[in-house]
Formats: sequence, structure tokens, C-alpha cells
Amino acid sequence: MKRQVVVVGAGPGGCTAAFYLAKAGIDVLLIDKETWPRDKICGDSYLPALYPFFEDMGIMNEMKAAAACNPKALRIIDPDEEYADFDVEPWLIAPRRIGDDIIRRGALTSGADFMENFQAEELIIRRGVVRGIKGIYNNREIEVEADAVVIADGSHSALARQLGIYKEDPEYILYAGRAYYDGVEGMEEGKFEEFYTPSTLPKPTYSPICLTWVAPLYQGKYASVGITIAEKYLRETGMTLEGLFQWWCENTKFGRERMHNARPVEKLKGWRLPGSRKIEKNYAPGAVVIGDAVSSAEAAFEYGIPSSMIGGRVAASFLPEVLSSGDFSEKKFSEFQTLVGKELNPGLEYNANFRDNILANKKTMKQFQLWAKTQPGYPHLIYDQSVVKFITEVLHKEIVLSDKKITQ
Ligand SMILES: Cc1cc2nc3c(=O)[nH]c(=O)nc-3n(C[C@H](O)[C@H](O)[C@H](O)COP(=O)(O)OP(=O)(O)OC[C@H]3O[C@@H](n4cnc5c(N)ncnc54)[C@H](O)[C@@H]3O)c2cc1C
Repeated sequence: MKRQVVVVGAGPGGCTAAFYLAKAGIDVLLIDKETWPRDKICGDSYLPALYPFFEDMGIMNEMKAAAACNPKALRIIDPDEEYADFDVEPWLIAPRRIGDDIIRRGALTSGADFMENFQAEELIIRRGVVRGIKGIYNNREIEVEADAVVIADGSHSALARQLGIYKEDPEYILYAGRAYYDGVEGMEEGKFEEFYTPSTLPKPTYSPICLTWVAPLYQGKYASVGITIAEKYLRETGMTLEGLFQWWCENTKFGRERMHNARPVEKLKGWRLPGSRKIEKNYAPGAVVIGDAVSSAEAAFEYGIPSSMIGGRVAASFLPEVLSSGDFSEKKFSEFQTLVGKELNPGLEYNANFRDNILANKKTMKQFQLWAKTQPGYPHLIYDQSVVKFITEVLHKEIVLSDKKITQ
């Protein structure tokens, strides 16, 4: 089989690449190893940054209808278990099994072909240039020749490993788990709760990124509950992710309050959540790598769908030009890192600033909560703006982003 572009992985990143490539008139094959619809362990939050993609794919109304919750407020619970509330731009929470399938169907409307149960095993590389993939399709070996490959196979990416650009950084690679529960008590409709590392964590560890979340689904009938911690700090606790979650349920004020009558609809399942401070090498001649496969998730707020879809859009504007120029050099493909970095690095750096300045220690976290409550308009402060204001005006630190500096 021969195609112009093969896209490996039909998650949000791969679907976006396939959608815009086919729209640009490219002959695209999108493949996924799973039978669809498929689940993805996730907090299920589709942020407003994704709405332009949903509009383009014609799925905005379907996504809204699929939402199990529209959070409008964020409650941040600090390590001493005190909290502050903030307003947020409402977003959609929809089970990934449903939301990702709507995206996949939307993506195919522009003409890409799709094959499920197709596991890519290896890139075909000739004279240093990626020229397609080998894999297993419905238990049979198969090869697809292609002028270019988009690698969007998620956080355990076998193909990024083959290219030697797979990231292993215990400070930025997070472990995260999610479970659905019923019988969770004390939630408020439309309020997403984030509980940061309790000061009573069993070992004397403070992790700048360890949070548990609770979000009401379907008018509070169910809840999405999950936990995130950087690999490095999980190791320091000496616990498993499941053990840490159980510990939170039983030993913290809010954990006990929310969970004492809760019953799991599904057990907590963990997954790797690969974050970054900035986009690193994401290409090889003939191939571009996007989304979790290149660790493009935000390392503090743990959002990864926006970076994956933005990466997909950039891939779809970059590759047609490469195909028509016939330039498959390392130099040409290195432009892809610059293009994606331009779009994603400011957001990744903003997140890193939040992590390094506010989550960095319990004192600044507490200071942030107390400060927020003294601000005019509280509790109706916009969360992102408050973070920036606190860092620049209270801590007197700069927020340095690739494209600008924000100072007091
Ligand atoms: C617990 C947890 C909570 C999270 N919460 C959020 C959140 O609320 N909001 C948010 O924006 N992000 C969240 N994230 C991050 C988000 O899930 C990912 O960043 C996002 O799914 C990445 O999209 P992707 O398209 O790059 O990869 P994926 O969504 O992982 O898709 C990759 C696809 O590739 C397929 N695949 C894999 N290997 C192969 C192969 N060899 N051949 C063919 N197909 C293959 C898989 O089946 C899969 O469908 C969370 C992550 C975790 C772990």
C-alpha cells in the first residue's frame, strides 16, 4: 500500500493532523491499534482552546451535548487543606471514550481514510529518511509506504523510541491515574476541585506537583477522581500511585469527606503523562512527532490535548510544503521544531513558572491562597490572571515566556 502521509495514532493529535492534511488535498491514512471507540485514562477535560478545532471539524454541538460537566469554577486546596475559589472560562468534561470518538469521526469528514486494529511496529527508514511503517493489521503483517509519517502514538511511543527522541525526565514525566466513582459527597455542581500535596504526606516529601482532583459528572451522580505526581516524587514517597491515592482518601480531611461513602464504578488506572518545559526534538527526515509522543503536555496543570491538537495542525501545514518541495533533509524537518515551539513554548513555560514559583513550596502556595482572598472581587477572580498577578506583583518575579516578559 502506498499513501502520501500515514498518521499513526487516532488520538486528538493524530486526528487533527489527518483532518487538516486531507483538507489540504493530501492523500492520508490514519491508523490506530485499538478498536474504536477506545478509552484513554484522562481527567476528560476538553479546554476552550480546543473549540476552534471542534468548530472546524463541525463537532462543537456534539461535543457540548456529550459533556458530563461544564466546570465554571476551580477550588484550589493547599497543602494545609485550606482553599480559595476562582472563576474559569467554562470547559467541557466528557469521557474520552465518547469525546475522542466524536473527534475521530469529525476528522474523517475531510476525506482521510481510517484503519483500526492496525498496530504500527516499526518505521521503514531508507538512507536515513522515514518512508513508511510496518505493522500488524488484524493479525496480519502489513507495510504502508508513505512520503511522510506523522507519529502521534501517545506517551509510550514505540516509534519515537526508534528515532531516539523518547523523553525520560523524572522531574517532568508525571504518573497520573483516574477513576469514576458514585457516592462522592460534598461536591458542588460546576466546581472542579484540585487538592495539592497535603502537608501530612506519609514521607517528608514535598512535591511541587502532586494533586488529586474531584469533578462532579452528570449533576453529581458520578465523579471523576484522579491523582497526578511527578515520577521523581512518587519514587520518594516509596508508594505506588494507587497506594498514594488510597492514602489521600483515608488520611486527609477532604479525602475522607468526599470519599467515605464513595464506591468505584471503575478502579483507578494509571498512565504516563509526559510533560515538558519546552518542545524538544520532534522530527527526523520524513517524520514529525506530535502530542504525548513528544512529551508536549503541560507539566503543572497536566493538560495535553491542546498541545497534541496544535501539534497536529502545525504538522498539517508543514508537510504539504515539504511534499511539494521534495526536500526531506534534516535541516528542512528541523523547522518543524521551531514552528511547534513558537506555538507551544509560551504555554509550557507559563506552566513551569506556576510550578516553580507557586507550587514550589508550601509557603508560596499558602501565600497565594491567602492573597487571593484579599483581592477585590474574590471569589470571582480569573484563575490564570491571578497566578500571573501574584507572581509578578507579590513575589516580584518575572514570568519569562519565549515571546515576551511579563513584569510588574
Ligand atoms: C490521568 C491523566 C489525566 C489527564 N487529564 C487531562 C485532561 O483533563 N485534559 C487534557 O487536555 N489532557 C489530560 N491528560 C493528558 C492527555 O490525556 C494527553 O496529553 C492526550 O491524550 C495526548 O493526545 P495524543 O493524541 O498525543 O495521544 P493519545 O490520546 O494517547 O492517542 C494516541 C493513540 O495512538 C494509538 N497508538 C498507540 N500506539 C500505537 C501503535 N503502535 N500503532 C497504532 N496506534 C497506536 C493509541 O491507541 C491512541 O489512540 C491527562 C493524562 C492523564 C494520564
